[in-house]
Amino acid sequence: MNRATPLLPGSTIGVLGGGQLGRMMALAARRMGYRICVLDRDPRCPTGQVADDVVVGTLDDVASALTVAERSAVVTLDTEHVPAELLARIAAICPVRPGPSVLATIQDRAVQKRFLDDRGVPQARWAPVGSPDELATAVAAIGRPAILKARRAGYDGKGQVRLEPGGDPLAAWRAIGQPPAVLEVLVPFAREVSVILARALDGEVRFYPLAENVHRRHILHTTRAPAPMPDQRRRHAETLAGDIATALDHVGVMAVEMFELVDGTLVVNEIAPRTHNSGHYTYGACATTQFEQHVRAVCGLPLGDPRAFTGAVMVNLIGDLWANGEPPWQHVLARPEARLHLYGKLTPAPGRKMGHVLLLDDDTDRALRTAEELVAVLAT
Ligand code: AMP
Repeated sequence: MNRATPLLPGSTIGVLGGGQLGRMMALAARRMGYRICVLDRDPRCPTGQVADDVVVGTLDDVASALTVAERSAVVTLDTEHVPAELLARIAAICPVRPGPSVLATIQDRAVQKRFLDDRGVPQARWAPVGSPDELATAVAAIGRPAILKARRAGYDGKGQVRLEPGGDPLAAWRAIGQPPAVLEVLVPFAREVSVILARALDGEVRFYPLAENVHRRHILHTTRAPAPMPDQRRRHAETLAGDIATALDHVGVMAVEMFELVDGTLVVNEIAPRTHNSGHYTYGACATTQFEQHVRAVCGLPLGDPRAFTGAVMVNLIGDLWANGEPPWQHVLARPEARLHLYGKLTPAPGRKMGHVLLLDDDTDRALRTAEELVAVLAT
């Protein structure tokens, strides 16, 4: 197929991984008339519940992934934890977007950091850790407090441990299973933001309003959009993120998470080559959701309008809220500005993302207060 030929509605989009991002993408795709074939180990996974076709298998199961590719016109991802080599195998059958080289650069923190260093992108001082000797060298070079992060397969703070001044680095490394890791200096950030963008097959990049994020226990808690920020600094954030997407030849939605220091300096934390939790506000606040945008990009279609019609706050609903059974959603639904999203996960667990509430309100300070009130009510 010619790279420039768009894949029109009626085509099947293969999705590797059946989580909530795949689910919301599938809902957007099916609204537009696409078919969805998903790979997941659980046929009742969030995406499987709304897909046309489910292939049951793990994300590193070559035969199952190739079956998805054979049934699809294009393959994309719900998670970046799909082996890049597997994507390369799929690319022989049908287009994979984003491509294997994007994943190969992103999914290993050390490779990602070298890639960013090579392009002069500002990031936290870091050093690789592969042995006890290297750990000692890294601690001497980076200092403490610092964070030790597994190079691969970490998310929501998993595979990460803080190294306090005077703490035992070897014990900390052992606590996360002694994997190949990176040591990063703890950045005294004033706040965290993320740039959500989409890059089309022809290289065009469009940006959503900047998102401001608050994490709790390493898990995203709230996102506010637009993040209040002087125009010039916001444009700088967009330039940093757009240049990264272009250098990677990425296709699809991408999130670039950044720390903003007190003096306004921006430091890139990490790159997610997919739709993102901090972009959920686009589903409700924007003309084109991040999920439709991703579908458009991977199908080789023109990008949609990323404009927001309202300010918004998103608050994540974590499994802990289910401690006393199903939370009393009527309190959320009683608010006209609230939108409830639940992902259809069958077993709530502490720390597990089960859904989110979106509050559509131009007064985002008020929406942040409302978000906390709602979480408090849901927890009772
Ligand atoms: P990550 O998995 O790298 O996105 O880290 C999850 C969260 O931990 C970030 O969003 C920050 O809140 C915090 N964090 C990670 N790395 C650093 C760092 N170098 N300095 C300060 N906070 C960090």
